[in-house]
Order: sequence, then structure tokens, then C-alpha cells
Amino acid sequence: MTKQELIHEIERLKKEKNAIVLAHYYSDSDVQDIADFLGDSLELSRKAGTTDASVIVFAGVHFMAETAALISPDKKVLIPALGAGCSLADGVTGQALANWKASNPDGIIVSYVNTTAEVKNYTDICCTSANAVAVVKSLPADAKVYFVPDRNLGAYITKSTGRQMELYDGCCRVHEQVTAKMILDKIAEYPQADVLIHPECPCSSDPAILEHPNCYMYSTSGILRHATESPKKQFLIATEVGTLHKLRKDNPGKEFIPVSDKIVCEYMKMSTLESVYEALRDEKYEVKIPSEISKRALEPITKMMELK
Ligand code: SF4
Repeated sequence: MTKQELIHEIERLKKEKNAIVLAHYYSDSDVQDIADFLGDSLELSRKAGTTDASVIVFAGVHFMAETAALISPDKKVLIPALGAGCSLADGVTGQALANWKASNPDGIIVSYVNTTAEVKNYTDICCTSANAVAVVKSLPADAKVYFVPDRNLGAYITKSTGRQMELYDGCCRVHEQVTAKMILDKIAEYPQADVLIHPECPCSSDPAILEHPNCYMYSTSGILRHATESPKKQFLIATEVGTLHKLRKDNPGKEFIPVSDKIVCEYMKMSTLESVYEALRDEKYEVKIPSEISKRALEPITKMMELK
């Protein structure tokens, strides 16, 4: 099928099956263009909870589709690419959290939403990069906190809030590539640009970057908001390169330059027009959460979403 035929078939199947396609900003640009809703993890979780569609095709990675399935147990949640994992989510197990809780029965486990349902099953409250600082600030001041699994986001929150936390030693292998040197070299090349950095990057807690007047740390939705609201015309982008598609579409008069064109998440690119079409046509691959963990795993997500 040609690209136009695929798009036509996807639209037809969406109507026929009362389905919607949710896509993350890191998705392939063709998939972003056919999505009914585009967002970051928090925005997509909220959308999954409020849509009246019967079928959700989640063009993202597995933990995101699991979160949608936890929030909307009455809906059929499909992931087009079965192999779409995540280095961060796959780097920690529920057992690791259970072990920590056994040694710290009064401690609080905060898990980044980039975790499996099995890990959420042992979590007290979830956070995304958009609300992580607010979530940590909401915790009792005297509680011991274990932040799981992204050490870079954890270090950034510690620097922002002053809150000492025990950090799990995990990372996103895509954002892990963004060093302070990479950012400073790019600033030397583009001294007028604002630099918009995702806190999963290890440079996000480096004083040379944190205190640099050109640098701003944001979730993906924050990066998009800053770029639209700023009077500046040039921006250096330090997050997954898929975000540039939306930035350029929304801001035609502005220039967006990736700090490196190697900041690519191969998992997020696994959903293509073909696989979205096949997911809709064959209603595959359905994401199901074992009933013995689904209720408990939803609790930390609900707590996070109730936080104003
Ligand atoms: S960019 Fe990193 S955290 Fe996001 S899905 Fe890819 S591997 Fe996981």
C-alpha cells in the first residue's frame, strides 16, 4: 500500500472500530501526523482515562500502553510493535522495590511513570518528568524516599528541591548520551539560542548547565510550551529528536537545532504507519495486565493524577 492508502485505511478502521491512536512526541513523524492525540507520558495517561473510544492504539512503548490499560481497564489497548520496550523501564524489577521496602517499611517509593506495571505494583506514588518536582515536594518532610529508576531525573529533582533521596541506578540510554560538554560546545556555536534540556539527560544536574543563563530544564511538554511562548527565534533541543517534528510544525518562524542527531529512541520508532494499520485491522497486540497486580499498580498512578 502507498502511504496515502495506509492513511486512508487507518482513518476508515478508526471510524469502524471506534478507535483512537495515541502517539508520543518521540514517535515517527508520519505516526504523529495520523494520531488523534499527541502528548507526553502524563498527557497521554490523562487522555487514555477520558476518551470514550472502545479501542486505544498506543503508538509508543510498552510501559505507556500498560499505563493506558491500567487506567482504562474496560477498553482494548493495542500496541503496534510488541518489541517496543524501554531501557529505563526494563532496568528495574518489582523484586528490587520489594527488597527495599522490606528494609525500609516506613519509606516512600516514588517511581517514574517509565516503569512496568509490575514495578508500579510496589510503588507508593508515580511521577512524570512534568510533575516530578511537585510530587516529591508533596511528600512528608521526614520520610525516607527511594526514587526509581532514573538516576538523572532523581539527581535533577534533588538539586531543584534540596530533598535528599536514595536513587536507583538506572537511566535512559537515549538521553544518557547528552553530556555537559555536548551542550557547552553547541552553545559556543549558537550563543543566542535558548537550550531546552530534558531532565533524563545526565547534564541536567551539572552546575555548569543548571546555572548557565541559556539553559532550561523541562519535560517534553515544557519544552514545547517554552518554544512557543518565547520571543527567541533559535533553540537548541536536548531530547529525543522526534520532538523536533512538533516543534517545527507549531513554530514555523523559529529554528530548532538538535544538540545531536544521535538522540534517537529506536523503541519509539518501532510503531510505523504499517504497524498501526495492522494493529487496527487485526486488533493486535492487546496489552493485558494480570488481575493480581492491576488494582494495586493503578493506585500510584491515581495518586499522581489527583495531585494538583
Ligand atoms: S527515550 Fe528512553 S525513557 Fe523514553 S522510551 Fe526511549 S529508552 Fe525509554
